[in-house]
Amino acid sequence: MDFEFDLVTLGAGSGGVAASRRAALHGARVAIVEAGRVGGTCVLRGCVPKKLLMYAAQYRDAFAEAPGYGWQLDTPPRFEMARWAAAKAAETARLEGIYRKLLEGSGVALFEGRAVLEAPHRVRVGERVLTARHVLLATGAAPVRDSIPGIAGCATSDELLDLDTLPPSCAVVGGGYIAVEFASMLARLGSKVSLYFRDRLPLRGFDEMLRTAAAAELTAAGVELHPGSAPSRIARTAAGWLLSFGEDRVREFPWVLNATGRKPNTQGLGLEAAGIGLDAQGAVRIDAGLNTALPGHFAIGDVTNRKNLTPVAIAEGRALADSLFGPAPRCVDLSLVASAVFMMPPIATVGPTEAEALAAGHTLKVFETDFRPMKQAFIGGSERTRMKLLVDADSDRVLAAHMIGADAPEIVQSLAVALTAGATKAHFDRTIAMHPTAAEEFVLMREPARTVAPAG
Ligand code: FAD
Ligand code: NDP
Repeated sequence: MDFEFDLVTLGAGSGGVAASRRAALHGARVAIVEAGRVGGTCVLRGCVPKKLLMYAAQYRDAFAEAPGYGWQLDTPPRFEMARWAAAKAAETARLEGIYRKLLEGSGVALFEGRAVLEAPHRVRVGERVLTARHVLLATGAAPVRDSIPGIAGCATSDELLDLDTLPPSCAVVGGGYIAVEFASMLARLGSKVSLYFRDRLPLRGFDEMLRTAAAAELTAAGVELHPGSAPSRIARTAAGWLLSFGEDRVREFPWVLNATGRKPNTQGLGLEAAGIGLDAQGAVRIDAGLNTALPGHFAIGDVTNRKNLTPVAIAEGRALADSLFGPAPRCVDLSLVASAVFMMPPIATVGPTEAEALAAGHTLKVFETDFRPMKQAFIGGSERTRMKLLVDADSDRVLAAHMIGADAPEIVQSLAVALTAGATKAHFDRTIAMHPTAAEEFVLMREPARTVAPAG
């Protein structure tokens, strides 16, 4: 059968654009279909605007700390969300323009509209049908809007990043990445935040040290924590939203952030009818080679709901394009993916949690440090930095590095290279420190805080 394209990609987000450009570089005839704006979640309503809001929020701490460093601030600073929002809109438009140019420059044909897989190898966009030898699903994910009765009308991170004014107080529902990052930012930008989450600590799935420290830092920032507490119902009121907790407890807020997770964009795409299997969360099922159940049809990134991070979607997209159109097939190894939570101070982590490493059968030497960094000590600040290294007691290999503290993402990104290369604790010990830095503490932890063996 003759196909118009070698590859048609559904979704021009991080993964779809990376895959399409790499495929075109290999000489493939490529089309990409986008239902919204080119750039996807990361660029338009995720990592990029989120981090720009984080930078705005960090000024609160800088202003508070400045007098301790000799600065006199004559008028109290005031945050104007509308000014930030206008600058953010200009920046995301600039980035969208760059993405469009990159596609054009690579020779990828862009079709704007909602794609549907009407039959294997046939993608419909409005009246147009694109036929392709290979079809790539890269449609990403969107906020869950039905996790709690009545939550559908509440704002998600999408709407928050478009606000012109900040609410004076708000409830944030959820305890994951988005809940913690935005609770931390909103509190610094001047909103009184109440954080409601189901577990005893925020950030389920992260190392216990990080979770405990995150709770302490959020509290220090003025966030009211409500562990083990999620609303059973949410209702609209004249003044805002009424959150019900069981039968007899209610609390009203002018604004609520729904941070209860995201779900893959697979509805109405025609996937199951075409023979592409979905899991219980609606994510596309794939194997290690990114193949769906339908030959010639692949999926990458958030639509597969495994490690929902931009660099993962990009790495998978490039690997797929190289496998299909390059010299040799290759897989992406997701066993050691670093990630960060951009709260203040930030968290960064690479490798398993202590509990996961023990469950995997490792006897661990646990190296820990907890200190007040120089910048804080000078001004009598209370913010602390905590670091943890997990070392396999038998092989001496460093399995994981966890950190909360200033610059943690920048530091742990570099450590991830060492861990990927299989560094041992002896390598860390041989490394000469760079002084004065916080990062040097990672090579100066000499004695384990404890040695722990797996249970049983
Ligand atoms: P997306 O980038 O979501 O792209 C999917 C594209 O498909 C979208 O443009 C969508 O419009 C389009 N689409 C959907 N359906 C169709 C259809 N039927 N037809 C045509 N097009 C369609 N990750 C990090 O690594 N670091 C961070 O700091 C970080 N911060 C985040 C903050 C927030 C608030 C959020 C929400 C996410 C954040 N993420 C972060 C996650 C990151 O944004 C995603 O993992 C990443 O964008 C996934 O890329 P993707 O290509 O799989 O999907
Ligand atoms: P997460 O999966 O991280 O967190 C979802 C939160 O919602 C959890 O705390 C969960 O609680 C809670 N929740 C789910 N259902 C309910 C309910 N019915 N009632 C109350 N609470 C509920 O999702 P996010 O939306 O925060 O982020 C989505 C993904 O996007 C992340 O997993 C991450 O991969 C990516 N992301 C990455 C960022 C980064 O790299 N810095 C930043 C933002 C997003 P429980 O723990 O009890 O299940």
